[in-house]
Amino acid sequence: MDIKAIRGMNDILPREAARWRLVEDTARRIFSLYGFSELRPPVMERTELFLRGIGDDTDVVEKQMYTFTDKGGDSVTLRPEATACVLRSVIEHGLLNADPVQKLYSIGPMFRYERPQKGRYRQFHQINAERLGEDGPFADAETLALAYDLASAVLGRDALLMEVNSLGCKACRPGFKGALEEFLASKQDVLCGDCMRRMHTNPLRVLDCKVESCRQAVQGAPSMEAYLCDACRGHFDGVLKGLHVFGVRFERNPRLVRGLDYYTRTTFEITAVGLGSQNAVAGGGRYDDLLSILGGPPVGGIGFAFGMERLIMLMGEVQDRVSGCFVVAQADPAVELAALGLIAELRAAGIPAEAAFGRSFKAQMRRADRAGYPLCAIIGEEELASGTLTVRDMQSASQAKITRSGVIQEITSMLAENKGERA
Ligand SMILES: [Zn+2]
Ligand SMILES: [Zn+2]
Repeated sequence: MDIKAIRGMNDILPREAARWRLVEDTARRIFSLYGFSELRPPVMERTELFLRGIGDDTDVVEKQMYTFTDKGGDSVTLRPEATACVLRSVIEHGLLNADPVQKLYSIGPMFRYERPQKGRYRQFHQINAERLGEDGPFADAETLALAYDLASAVLGRDALLMEVNSLGCKACRPGFKGALEEFLASKQDVLCGDCMRRMHTNPLRVLDCKVESCRQAVQGAPSMEAYLCDACRGHFDGVLKGLHVFGVRFERNPRLVRGLDYYTRTTFEITAVGLGSQNAVAGGGRYDDLLSILGGPPVGGIGFAFGMERLIMLMGEVQDRVSGCFVVAQADPAVELAALGLIAELRAAGIPAEAAFGRSFKAQMRRADRAGYPLCAIIGEEELASGTLTVRDMQSASQAKITRSGVIQEITSMLAENKGERA
């Protein structure tokens, strides 16, 4: 068979799944510490949602969406991000009527038609948070602290850099944009083609351009901070104070922007700093107009997204520890039936159990070893006749005889001991 997976879409194989589960479990634990609930939107939405919710002059919408016409003639799109989907769901189900504060998270695959490269795939995964209905600076600080806690729990605090900025609001950003446009006009000869276009449509995105000549050119660009109105300045001060209280280590970065117009005030990014290279693992910010753009009430929000592939790439090996007992039986129908009964009893007691009958004793032991079981219960004619079992510790190779009737208790305590030794 030579049918392969689609380029940029990956299988997560059993040997990698432990890391994925660890990240997901960590995220769920931390979200619940902060009072966030899970919302699971579908992976496909009407194309219109993303045109409105992301903006049609962005790279994502212009070049990267998996959009097609379904059999009913509707234009549908595999979600390239989660925020628009979550907000669509909040509006559709009137969640804000039931509770004017919504703290939501979602975890799952996103789809973008990009050139695949290391760490970037066409199906990728995000951990997403959206917090709606609270405008104060401490809601922002707490949301940033959540993201920081999550990143710390997976990668360790020392590997992280959190950068924070304020993008101002409708009242004060136009002044900054004007000054920035004027500045960029004086740098026309060195800006890349994209930036030449963007400097008029969306000058903030030039600050974010990765092209070296553009990065050089914006060195002396005006900074948003000087243009913040009193309300935005007060809000930003509150955010920074809150971050101190939460123990978040951060730096202010006046160059940090989000490309989309609906982002307001607080914006942030978390990068993993290691061996000279920097990797953005999460980013987010406040969006006070997005809900109304999507047809919802004029309620503000703040959110963030983690790229799971990045987190997993950076977190190093995680051993998938198998617990439980492999049952090895002598090749004899009566013995094998007794062994089946033993397996059922172990599982009923919550102890993982497995067997591979119909092979030689040696081959069964090899399976037990390969699967990583700490214990092996051996049953043969002699054990069957005397109502006993031989239990082998796979690590030390020491064996002990136990009574068949006390098996659950014995194996439970041996597994607990084994766990204690390894921990
Ligand atoms: Zn403002
Ligand atoms: Zn550029």
